[in-house]
Amino acid sequence: MKIRNKLFYVSGGLYGQLGNVYAVRHAEGYFLIDCGTPAAYDTILENLHYWGISEKEITHVLLTHGHDDHAGTAAKFQELGAKILVGRSDSFMLESGDFGKESPFQNHTMPSCHADILLDADTHMCIGGVDIDAYAMPGHTDGFMIYDVKLDDDHVLFTGDFFYCDGERGDLAFTGWKGDMSYSSEKLGDSFKRLWEMQLAPTIILGGHGNPRIGKEAKDLIMIAYKYYLVHNR
Ligand SMILES: [Zn+2]
Repeated sequence: MKIRNKLFYVSGGLYGQLGNVYAVRHAEGYFLIDCGTPAAYDTILENLHYWGISEKEITHVLLTHGHDDHAGTAAKFQELGAKILVGRSDSFMLESGDFGKESPFQNHTMPSCHADILLDADTHMCIGGVDIDAYAMPGHTDGFMIYDVKLDDDHVLFTGDFFYCDGERGDLAFTGWKGDMSYSSEKLGDSFKRLWEMQLAPTIILGGHGNPRIGKEAKDLIMIAYKYYLVHNR
């Protein structure tokens, strides 16, 4: 699905795959935001090819976190030449290819790799002329990052499993799974408070699951999601 001129939805629920994957065009190629489960690789390629994009044009993969339904094909894209970015505290999941020995969720596995760039805190970067702010928002996992991307007239927020939008009219919000060993509802609450106070005005919010939220109401989703957290996740 082409969301905007330079913004594509290339895998996820719409295509029967777990974990949404987005591609963004920049001056020297494309970067992905998250990269799905290992099983999503063919779907990602099929959609990239449909839009005339070669997998070799993927220069970077920006991961919101290390779970296998978001980082599952990182090793493959790294082999093709992409640089993998992830929050430092989540990098062990990419290295071990699972959630760690202490996690009872041993069925979540993926091909392992070493991330190229580890993010410790809020980081501003520019990839091929596209400005990106990565914000450290621990909670769902300890190394969780969201990405705020300025793309032409749009202000696109990629929120992974921090929260995402659903419902026929896009007026429902959910926060992600709480089973990670580093999950912290306290940190999640602090991250929500910080995001709320930042008063970003995204025109598009794209989560790790669920539907895109497009339009000026996107900003409301932060409020709806924060309310959802306060009622359900504390
Ligand atoms: Zn997750």
